[in-house]
Amino acid sequence: MSIKQNLQTIKSSIPEHITLVAVSKTKPVSDIMEAYNAGHKIFGENKVQDMVEKYEQMPKDILWHMIGHVQRNKVKYMASFVSLIHGVDNFKLLKEINKQAKKHNRIIDCLLQIKIAEEDSKFGMSAEDASKILFSEAFSALKNINITGVMGMATFTDNETQIKKEFNTLKSTFDSLKSYEKFNFKPEIISMGMSGDYKLAIDCGSTMIRVGSSIFGARNYSN
Ligand SMILES: *Cc1c(COP(=O)(O)O)cnc(C)c1O
Repeated sequence: MSIKQNLQTIKSSIPEHITLVAVSKTKPVSDIMEAYNAGHKIFGENKVQDMVEKYEQMPKDILWHMIGHVQRNKVKYMASFVSLIHGVDNFKLLKEINKQAKKHNRIIDCLLQIKIAEEDSKFGMSAEDASKILFSEAFSALKNINITGVMGMATFTDNETQIKKEFNTLKSTFDSLKSYEKFNFKPEIISMGMSGDYKLAIDCGSTMIRVGSSIFGARNYSN
């Protein structure tokens, strides 16, 4: 199956209101261009450096999503163009994004990454940390960021019951945070679901899925 066919298959199997982020990490520009030429414009990368290189080479109407863990000192490289940062898991990072966004006279959309997996390896904050941030005065001072929702990654397991439980946790966290809505917190997005579990994620309330290998094929990290 071609990249174009894979995209069509996925798009026809999900409701129209679901945003599909095509995760192009480790894939060459030629593969991404194939998806672009098939009409897809939203791509996700997990390394700032790779995203910058691809941004520079590719059409400027692409919406670039940073889906990986972000180090504060890398924010400046993507601040001029990044469309959505999914993995915000601490206030210091939020402050840095605000600072860099201001330099570029932009408001940068971000998601708070909530830790829903049992594994220790997954990043993210607790629901309590998130509500503390959203409720704080320091957060109200950040005029150049807009938190548009939450992101989560389920445990890497075949156990559907567990994945479902974790997705439900993210949905209920989102629902509980909604009451904090303000000028820089406009909750609309629940980013959850990848190639193996996006259908389940949508059933659990996802509004944005991040799909890589089902579109571009398996990744080879050795090259
Ligand atoms: C790689 C990655 C994905 C996509 O994974 P696939 O299983 O290839 O669909 C989604 N989200 C994040 C955060 C990722 O790093």
